[in-house]
Amino acid sequence: MDKDVIIIGGGPSGLSTALHLHRTAPHLTPRILILEKEHYPRFKLCAGGLTVDAETILERLGLDVNEVPHVFADNVRFDFESKGLNIRNTKRHVLRVIRRDEFDHWLAKKAGSRGIEIRQGVTVKDITPTPDEVIVETDQGTYHAQIVVGADGSNGITRRCVFPKAPVYTARALEVITPEYDVVARMVEMRQHRNPDEAISSRIGKIASGKSVPRNEGSAYFEFSPVPKNIAGYIWDFPTQVTGEPMRCWGIYDTNILAYGKRPQLKDTLADEMKRVGFDLNEYEIKGHPIRWFSPENKMSVPRVLFVGDAVGADPIFGEGISIALGYGNLAAREISESIQRNEFSFRRFKRRVVRSALGQTLIARWVIANVIYPLKWRWFQILLWRILKPIVLLVAWVFVLNWGKRMPTP
Ligand SMILES: Cc1cc2nc3c(=O)[nH]c(=O)nc-3n(C[C@H](O)[C@H](O)[C@H](O)COP(=O)(O)OP(=O)(O)OC[C@H]3O[C@@H](n4cnc5c(N)ncnc54)[C@H](O)[C@@H]3O)c2cc1C
Repeated sequence: MDKDVIIIGGGPSGLSTALHLHRTAPHLTPRILILEKEHYPRFKLCAGGLTVDAETILERLGLDVNEVPHVFADNVRFDFESKGLNIRNTKRHVLRVIRRDEFDHWLAKKAGSRGIEIRQGVTVKDITPTPDEVIVETDQGTYHAQIVVGADGSNGITRRCVFPKAPVYTARALEVITPEYDVVARMVEMRQHRNPDEAISSRIGKIASGKSVPRNEGSAYFEFSPVPKNIAGYIWDFPTQVTGEPMRCWGIYDTNILAYGKRPQLKDTLADEMKRVGFDLNEYEIKGHPIRWFSPENKMSVPRVLFVGDAVGADPIFGEGISIALGYGNLAAREISESIQRNEFSFRRFKRRVVRSALGQTLIARWVIANVIYPLKWRWFQILLWRILKPIVLLVAWVFVLNWGKRMPTP
């Protein structure tokens, strides 16, 4: 046997599983191996929004996320056609935005400094669970393990080998990085031979037509106007930084819950929204990636193999998956250390453990909410939801969506 525990994938879910195992069962540390196909710092398409729950889980692991380059969104808007709900916390930021190459590299270094072995540049090709071990075939040889953790994301090989025919619920997401509003406004002004400084001082995006849409550079925006067009999701516009330079991260997310209806191209819908604020999508590089989301139907384990992170499912409402991935790691580590103690690897109770946890409860609540707010796609309902039912939406978000990290088991 090469290792007791082989974790396939060194993203937040795999690294969190290893870090929680190190915390709950330190004697297992030398028996853990992470196989990661890329080399850090590696690119990962993601807007990088970290919620309070991600920060809570990292803090409880003794990690200080302030070490990672970041920007704060001081307030977050949930809008339908530019009007809606504003969330602001006077005591702290509402959202921290990191870049995933930097965040994952930092987390991998923390795992390495705690003695966890990560082999980079190793691509797993096949996984075969047997009654006595799991055989892991890679492009650099074969490994044998007591337990394998599938932490290889939405397109992961582990799930495809173990559950080749299981149904998958996958969202589509597109993302672009642009300069900040004032930089674009300045470019527009220069093209129109007006005074560029005036545009900068106004700190708003301006459309070529001269109509302006006020936007605040410290805010993150979620815009739900695509829903009546059968896009069961939203457009985001976050502050971010790339190598220290302030930028905006834009994107569009579609759960595919309304896939039965006729839908416009995601790219065109994003382009229309960006144009309103003065950006021409054609000037930027656009990238896409699926996000597998949580459904109570999703399978989470077979004997000797369990899944974490996107390989099980992210949040269906927003496609938020970093905090969720970190949370799965906590639960998987407990399951693994108890199974090693008992020398019993069926993982029959892993799904029950997840569903009963604070993480499972938020995921189930978010699955229910997504299946209510997106199919009720009419314009009047979206206006009611985001503009009129504000106190109810805030209460539901507070109770069911946020603050679950504190209720997770202490690592
Ligand atoms: C466009 C977009 C925007 C998003 N924005 C946000 C956001 O703002 N906030 C948020 O919380 N979530 C966001 N998400 C979701 C978030 O990125 C994921 O939920 C999160 O990355 C899941 O972590 P993970 O560890 O499960 O998987 P991943 O981060 O995908 O990590 C999987 C790892 O496995 C490795 N791997 C894959 N296959 C193999 C193999 N065969 N062999 C070895 N290694 C392998 C990969 O290289 C990768 O390092 C976004 C996703 C997308 C697509």
